[in-house]
Amino acid sequence: MPRRFTEGRLVVASHNAGKVTEIGDLLAPYDLDVVSAAELNLPEPEETGTTFVANAILKAEAAVQGSNLPCLADDSGLAVAGLEGDPGIYSARWAGPERDFKAAMALVNDKLGDNPNRRAYFISVLSLAWPDGHMENFEGRVYGTLVWPPRGRCGFGYDPMFMPDGHDKTFGEIPYDEKQRISHRAVAFQKLIDGCFRD
Ligand code: IMP
Repeated sequence: MPRRFTEGRLVVASHNAGKVTEIGDLLAPYDLDVVSAAELNLPEPEETGTTFVANAILKAEAAVQGSNLPCLADDSGLAVAGLEGDPGIYSARWAGPERDFKAAMALVNDKLGDNPNRRAYFISVLSLAWPDGHMENFEGRVYGTLVWPPRGRCGFGYDPMFMPDGHDKTFGEIPYDEKQRISHRAVAFQKLIDGCFRD
């Protein structure tokens, strides 16, 4: 049984504004004081892990160390079948220091070339870590197809080139509230809520 979350304050261990907004909104019904790592001036740890879960744990633990509060981290990314899972844990890094996701999407498309396999999934691993060292991890995925050129202005990162299965719109075209219901982060979140927050 996952540990229940009974504290009133939770740090979202991310400096990514898009993620912090999405996570804050997903937590809104639970009457928590949610603060971000950026608001607390916590340093951004280097993501030295080789898996999503290792990086999520590393980020959650670094934030716990810096704040002595329970912290929630998300490590997420886009895994492309035709690129053997790349950009994967390097999804943010493919955008370079400028965080240029137009360039990162073009790189994905260029590397795929004329490969007819356009399958991909977004993955999110959430790590909830407490100051006493306890930790709970949850994973969510959403499968889909990559389109080119990118479409839509909603979301962030690789959203405009990712069309989730069962939809004819990309995450860049799907309104925010709908993405919040179906995304990889929403799936991981549902597991987190069921495990740690629901009565
Ligand atoms: P990290 O988890 O901060 O290492 O970075 C995850 C990266 O994956 C983000 O910078 C985005 O490029 C990408 N990513 C994660 N979730 C999403 C999403 O919901 N939409 C689009 N891109 C995402």
